[in-house]
Amino acid sequence: MTTVIVGAGLAGLAAGHRLVTGGREVVVLEAGPVVGGRCASWVEQGMPVESGLHRFIGAYTALPALMRDCGIDLDKVIWWEDEAEVRAVDGARGVLGGAPLHKPVRTLVGPLVSRGLLGPLDLASLVPFFTVGLAAVRTRPRWLDSVTVTELATRTRVTARAQAHLLEPFTAGLFFVPPERYSAYNFFGLVAPALPHLHRQRIGAFLGGMTDVMTGPIAAAIERHGGAVTTGSPVRSLELRDDRVVGVVTDLGLVEAEHVILATELGAAQELLRPVLGEHPWFRAMLEAPSTPSATLQLELDRPVLPTDRATFGPGTCMASFAEQSRSTFTHADGRLSVILQPPEPFIDAVPAEVLAQVLADARRLGLDVGEVRDHRLVNHPHDFLSLEPGHAHRRPDQRTPVPGLTLAGDYTRQPWLSSMEGAVISGHRAADVALAG
Ligand SMILES: Cc1cc2nc3c(=O)[nH]c(=O)nc-3n(C[C@H](O)[C@H](O)[C@H](O)COP(=O)(O)OP(=O)(O)OC[C@H]3O[C@@H](n4cnc5c(N)ncnc54)[C@H](O)[C@@H]3O)c2cc1C
Repeated sequence: MTTVIVGAGLAGLAAGHRLVTGGREVVVLEAGPVVGGRCASWVEQGMPVESGLHRFIGAYTALPALMRDCGIDLDKVIWWEDEAEVRAVDGARGVLGGAPLHKPVRTLVGPLVSRGLLGPLDLASLVPFFTVGLAAVRTRPRWLDSVTVTELATRTRVTARAQAHLLEPFTAGLFFVPPERYSAYNFFGLVAPALPHLHRQRIGAFLGGMTDVMTGPIAAAIERHGGAVTTGSPVRSLELRDDRVVGVVTDLGLVEAEHVILATELGAAQELLRPVLGEHPWFRAMLEAPSTPSATLQLELDRPVLPTDRATFGPGTCMASFAEQSRSTFTHADGRLSVILQPPEPFIDAVPAEVLAQVLADARRLGLDVGEVRDHRLVNHPHDFLSLEPGHAHRRPDQRTPVPGLTLAGDYTRQPWLSSMEGAVISGHRAADVALAG
């Protein structure tokens, strides 16, 4: 009997790959026109776009292993930039190394040789913040999830400059939510699993659209093993019989399954679960979980806006993080800028031309010369991330559910890497292991 996987994001694809290589019959049903979900790339009215600017982290293990197993040569699809830049509206600027082994000098002294970004006192003021946070993430996670990054930073006397120039980039720049709304648990929840792998830490950009170089080849590997991956196939409902999930309903009718892995983003999972399991107490916490949207503006330009393709943070502006990509991901363009917007909420239903005007105004404040904008697209995800604000970390559900025939996968489920590509892959593997054991 078949395992049906709902959603061909990284979680669904990781689950599908593990199941087909374990000898199971697998059908992956994807609502969208391409595979990849939040790791997708496609052409939108003539302009190549991506689901959002992504960086590949050297400390990841499950994702690179999956890619290698699917025949993807990492050296051909990842370009290790190994550094990130911070540009602030007050003129402070610095390039921070993100690879202790590959750029040791830049990684160790980057903040100190920057232009007004952080001084020795600012760096020293971060020590109590990190000491308290890293201890509490293990010993008092509930308490840590009740305070924001700004509250903890203020209590541990982090300087205003370190808060503005470092903590804002590493909250809003990574997960779109500013430090005054960002749970300290989620901040340290991401730092803690990376620490044992610090020596492997690197920052990479994709050499091509993510569907072309990563998620598409993973889907192709599933098909090579006999699985089916179908795009343009939205699942409309889960089929529940005698308290067991026995399949899914699509526009073509019922697809019966021995096991269903629900591998959609949070908002879609809530919509599919509510009608059939809305009263089930196990699902209550996740069904009540609020989501955080993401919004990105992608621009085609007549020339590169930055001399190097590297992730850049723009604290104090709507440009939470951005990167020039014309020499890495989108080489067809003379200049290509992808911008993640913060806070995302006002941009979700905004008119793209107005968002463009705001980005151009903030780019000028950061001293960027954007040149001629040839085209632009707003690419949004309205209900995809489990909220990273305080009080919701406990809502992340396990992959194993008490309902026979149903397993959850997705970056919102409980695993060590929060809402990331690595977390999605781990969740998919865990969901597949439950199905294989059943
Ligand atoms: C702008 C942005 C920047 C990011 N940057 C990074 C980064 O730098 N590094 C990093 O590690 N992570 C990053 N992420 C996070 C990362 O992309 C996600 O954590 C990961 O891709 C989530 O994978 P997933 O499979 O859990 O969910 P998704 O990728 O959301 O997959 C869910 C899939 O389910 C499908 N679906 C939904 N409903 C149905 C239905 N009814 N029937 C069938 N299919 C359905 C959707 O179409 C989608 O394809 C970023 C995300 C965004 C949006």
